[in-house]
Amino acid sequence: MRDYLETLYEGYGQRFAVDKLLHEVRTEHQHLVIFENARMGRVMALDGVIQTTEADEFIYHEMLTHVPLFAHGLPRRVLIIGGGDGGILREVAKHREVEHITMVEIDGTVVEMCKEFLPNHSQGAFDDPRLNLVIDDGMHFVATTQDKFDVIISDSTDPIGPGEVLFSENFYQACRRCLNDGGILVTQNGTPFMQLGEVQTTAQRMNGLFPDWHFYQAAVPTYIGGAMTFAWGACNVESRKLPLETLRQRYAGSSIVTRYYNPEIHVGAFALPQYVLQAIRKPSND
Ligand code: SAM
Repeated sequence: MRDYLETLYEGYGQRFAVDKLLHEVRTEHQHLVIFENARMGRVMALDGVIQTTEADEFIYHEMLTHVPLFAHGLPRRVLIIGGGDGGILREVAKHREVEHITMVEIDGTVVEMCKEFLPNHSQGAFDDPRLNLVIDDGMHFVATTQDKFDVIISDSTDPIGPGEVLFSENFYQACRRCLNDGGILVTQNGTPFMQLGEVQTTAQRMNGLFPDWHFYQAAVPTYIGGAMTFAWGACNVESRKLPLETLRQRYAGSSIVTRYYNPEIHVGAFALPQYVLQAIRKPSND
């Protein structure tokens, strides 16, 4: 394999030179490939879609983790859905106040291959004593668990194949049921310039289900088509409206070193462009 062509979009996509193929397998659930690229480092793709690269993963994993955890303020119990590469787990584990992490990944092969070929993603986080790793469909888990969580992070593939169910109304409703008072759900929700329908559908499904719902954004270079949105569903409206000074105090007090996230980025990320506000039928970013 000389080049890897992403096939997420018809007629438009990104190409990576495959400088070294590290692993390729068809697992029980999806086609997995991990390769080296001189510019982006090690890259993983599932079913023809780029999932993560060593070069820019920090942006996505920091924003999908630290925004809800610093907004919550005292996240003791965290649930990660998907996230098989371990990047979200690595960032959640940096929060000392977190006492318990449940991670529900449908494909055990992704975990094993990422431990072996993408060790910089998890950086040993899979050995964290707070972790309870469950190999299961995230939909089945949230529909059946009796556990409750302060923050739920859905780090799924796109809504095709095994990831599709993680964008369903049933999934969001089940996550709402699994949240403690003050709980927050955040999810990977695609790039609105290319996947505006996904954002609209999530907005319709969250509206009426969460006291506060919105989206926040970050530009992740290898999630092509512009800024990536993260869906936000919170059990109280205050979580999204914290004073900047509060976030600054929590960030400074955590001693967590980041490369992308900071409190100002946190606040600014919730400011959505006009075409997205119109698509989700919100008059403003309030
Ligand atoms: N950061 C990537 C993105 O934004 O596209 C996602 C990375 S992570 C590799 C996505 C993970 O979701 C994969 O490991 C995949 O196996 C997992 N996954 C897909 N569908 C799932 C489901 N129904 N339940 C649990 N995990 C699922």
